[in-house]
Amino acid sequence: MSKKSKWGFATKSIHIGNKANKEHGSIAPPIHLTSTFKQDGVGQNRGHDYSRVSNPTRSRLEENLAALEGSNYAVCYSSGMAATTALFQLFDKDDHILVSRNTYGGTYRMAMNVLSRQGIDFEWIDTRDPQNIKKRIKENTKLVHVESPTNPLLELCDIEETAKICKSKNVLLSVDNTFMSPYGQRPLEIGADIAMQSSTKSLSGHSDILGGVLTTNNDELHERLQFMLKATGGVPSPFDNWITLRSTKTLALRYQKASDNALELASWLATLTNIHKTIYPGLKSHPQHDIATKQQLSPNGDVVYGAMLSIDVGNINARDEFLKKIEIFQLAESLGSVESLVCIPYFMTHAAVPESTKLEMGITESLIRLSIGIEDFSDLRTDLADALS
Ligand SMILES: *Cc1c(COP(=O)(O)O)cnc(C)c1O
Repeated sequence: MSKKSKWGFATKSIHIGNKANKEHGSIAPPIHLTSTFKQDGVGQNRGHDYSRVSNPTRSRLEENLAALEGSNYAVCYSSGMAATTALFQLFDKDDHILVSRNTYGGTYRMAMNVLSRQGIDFEWIDTRDPQNIKKRIKENTKLVHVESPTNPLLELCDIEETAKICKSKNVLLSVDNTFMSPYGQRPLEIGADIAMQSSTKSLSGHSDILGGVLTTNNDELHERLQFMLKATGGVPSPFDNWITLRSTKTLALRYQKASDNALELASWLATLTNIHKTIYPGLKSHPQHDIATKQQLSPNGDVVYGAMLSIDVGNINARDEFLKKIEIFQLAESLGSVESLVCIPYFMTHAAVPESTKLEMGITESLIRLSIGIEDFSDLRTDLADALS
């Protein structure tokens, strides 16, 4: 075992992929803003020939992200959606893919409006119970794609149990791990074949770039994903890769602080009588609290309940009052950043989902999703208290 592989998460996040540049010794790695590379002779390059295929800055980021995930490989994309699209494009006409029912809205839109047309058969199911997944696996099922926790209801999927079922049926399991980041949950360690993240969220963490990544330990899958990226071209820019590489250095600090803030806020919100419902996996009242405690673990083994929570304030008047008074939390899509954000899933992230489906799942017009940042806890609580009064 190499010395590096024994390093802790924070050490890896700062050093892997960040070796000082050979020529000048710059501690911060250079950004290779280049589309192409001078070749020493026909067929003789120095490791890179064209930036769609590979680029030194992207290679550094891929090395870094693989280390954080504990995986053999990482492949980076221009957005989370480019990553999920590449993942689903591994499959062919008439292949069947099972997906968590309240998955990210963009995943639903892409699957139903793009790849369905090309003949891939998607089915949306409740993935809270692994036995339900088992029942739905058919002869032509090739992939189970789950999110845990889901947006905005924070439904969980027992990844380890699901992985066992998928293995026994010879079906691949992929996990959209965007909400937890590799700091809070590492799906490959508990049996998944592929982990996906939108690096737009916690990995970069400052709401300034778009990116996505797929990680795997499987040689063949890696080769096919690498080929797909070269063939279809959804690559991230060297600059965005560099920003992400710099940002993961503080992922452990940022994620832990945001999760601590969220747990304290959720515990306090749950005591307020003017809130209908507080949904957070760290609360004992969450129906799958035990699963969160089992699988949402920091690299040190401590439970991390995540930085997302949802509250239902009961009616739209209370919601509008809340939005009018709230100051630190800003109304915007996205999550996982240093600043706290608020969103109304019914009209924003889930606008494309049919009304009856939303209501059946509990996504009401007064459901408020909070992405907790790393501001001072007391300021966040005061801001929420004022907005809810
Ligand atoms: C944001 C998000 C995505 C899509 O990522 P983009 O970078 O916006 O393309 C996918 N899954 C989840 C859970 C997300 O939150």
